[in-house]
Amino acid sequence: MKSYDVAIIGSGPGGYVAAIRCAQLGMKTAIIEKYSTLGGTCLNVGCIPSKALLSSSHHYEEATKHFEDHGIEIPSDIKVNLEKMIARKQAVVDQTTGGIDFLMKKNKIDVYEGLGSFKDATHIKIEGKDAGEIEAKNTIIATGSKPSSLPFITIDKERIITSTEALKLKEIPKHLMIIGGGVIGLELGQVYRRLGAEVTVIEYMDRILPTMDAGLSKELNKVFKKAKCKMMVSHKVQSVERNGDEVIVKAENKKGELVEFKGDYCLVSVGRRPYTDGLNAEAAGVKLNDRGQVEVNEHLQTNVSNIYAIGDVIKGAMLAHKAEEEGVFVAETLAGQKPHIDYNLIPGVVYTWPEVAAVGKTEEALKETGTEYKVGQFPFRALGRARASGDIDGFVKILADKNTDEVLGVHMIGARCADLIAEAVVAMEYRASAEDISRMSHAHPTFAEAIKEAALAATDDRALHV
Ligand code: FAD
Ligand code: NAD
Repeated sequence: MKSYDVAIIGSGPGGYVAAIRCAQLGMKTAIIEKYSTLGGTCLNVGCIPSKALLSSSHHYEEATKHFEDHGIEIPSDIKVNLEKMIARKQAVVDQTTGGIDFLMKKNKIDVYEGLGSFKDATHIKIEGKDAGEIEAKNTIIATGSKPSSLPFITIDKERIITSTEALKLKEIPKHLMIIGGGVIGLELGQVYRRLGAEVTVIEYMDRILPTMDAGLSKELNKVFKKAKCKMMVSHKVQSVERNGDEVIVKAENKKGELVEFKGDYCLVSVGRRPYTDGLNAEAAGVKLNDRGQVEVNEHLQTNVSNIYAIGDVIKGAMLAHKAEEEGVFVAETLAGQKPHIDYNLIPGVVYTWPEVAAVGKTEEALKETGTEYKVGQFPFRALGRARASGDIDGFVKILADKNTDEVLGVHMIGARCADLIAEAVVAMEYRASAEDISRMSHAHPTFAEAIKEAALAATDDRALHV
């Protein structure tokens, strides 16, 4: 039986990054993955394929709606080849997952293909292609998550689908009904709206993206409405039935009335659940909490001292970069280092267009804690760069402490915000004040100038270009 310093179960961004960092730190490392490709949800059916389809559909929308504004004339019969678009997405996925194979080899990490399950706290059974058993001094559980649903819904994977199926549809839906106006619903909703589907978003809460700053929800809602998506907030879904090629969704509105929606596809995107099926955590004595998450302490250690857990399978935001930070954290902890993660400074991004990005506290959270704060906001439409490219929707909002001027939260919606948010993360990691940001040179003309202007607005209402 082969013996390892550390075994990692699951090869998503949490698991494979943990493996690389463990190997870098000199540990003999194994990674176990039940599927034949590495990379987990993120690379196979999450971040990467959804961004590939967002990019392709964005190109189509640019060509059909915006090229003309730029003086580019295109034939009127321009059309989508969905099969080719999906094939390109798959090629991007294959190339990316192949890259992880390369990284495992480069770092001399042993890869086992098969379902990993605990025999006890130091032995893992592998069932599948590389069946057998290994011994591990330490184990990191990185088994991720799966789509969750509502108790009365049967996901048939044909017309009542999750994000996994929505990433490989064979036709463009005529009417895609989306249950859940969160990140997945909005990203994939925008993909199919751009490709020509009628889209209805049915959200239980009174706004889309209910966990983000309300200003961002409001602005993105406007963008979706402008694109003629039906945005049904405050609607509680009661039933989802299939009748041949038709799906019927019934939901209760604020007034208590039952509203019926009919379409040919229904995407269920109401969140994800931690995944521990088949892991046999009990055999190692590892405790799960009542939400099915692996319970961990501040060192991401389970109740069994040589077993750790990271990523979507534990508490916290279900984000690839959160899982990655935790992978590095555990590897460094095992190596005797004292790593640190500031969970408040893990940014959240929605890759719609305009992009939505945020870090730190929302206005709602600051109000709740009674923190005195000031707001500096700057609209992209006032920037030369935004007008030059025609991307004028959105704004940057900076929330700073009223007394100390320390930046407490940055919330933005607009072109390239997914990348712009990095500046806010760096600033907040170094506990910058709004004035600090406002005094730094930002290249002209760039979208980043909106951050400097919002910082000027927060400092003492002295934005230059509004
Ligand atoms: P996962 O990526 O879920 O990986 C877990 C792996 O463990 C899987 O490969 C699974 O097969 C394997 N496994 C499970 N049990 C066993 C077992 N017993 N034995 C062996 N292997 C096992 N996040 C972002 O930050 N940005 C995005 O843009 C983004 N887009 C997304 C889009 C979609 C459509 C979806 C669904 C998710 C998206 N996410 C995004 C979320 C992101 O994918 C997850 O947060 C991330 O993948 C979690 O990483 P993980 O390593 O914890 O788990
Ligand atoms: P989510 O938590 O983002 O959104 C789920 C939405 O469904 C919420 O708005 C919620 O109020 C709503 N909802 C819940 N029950 C409902 C009901 N009965 N009827 C109507 N609406 C209901 O979850 P998701 O969009 O499924 O995404 C799952 C996870 O994947 C998220 O945690 C997210 O972090 C991650 N993800 C991230 C990205 C990204 O970072 N860009 C992209 C996709 C997914």
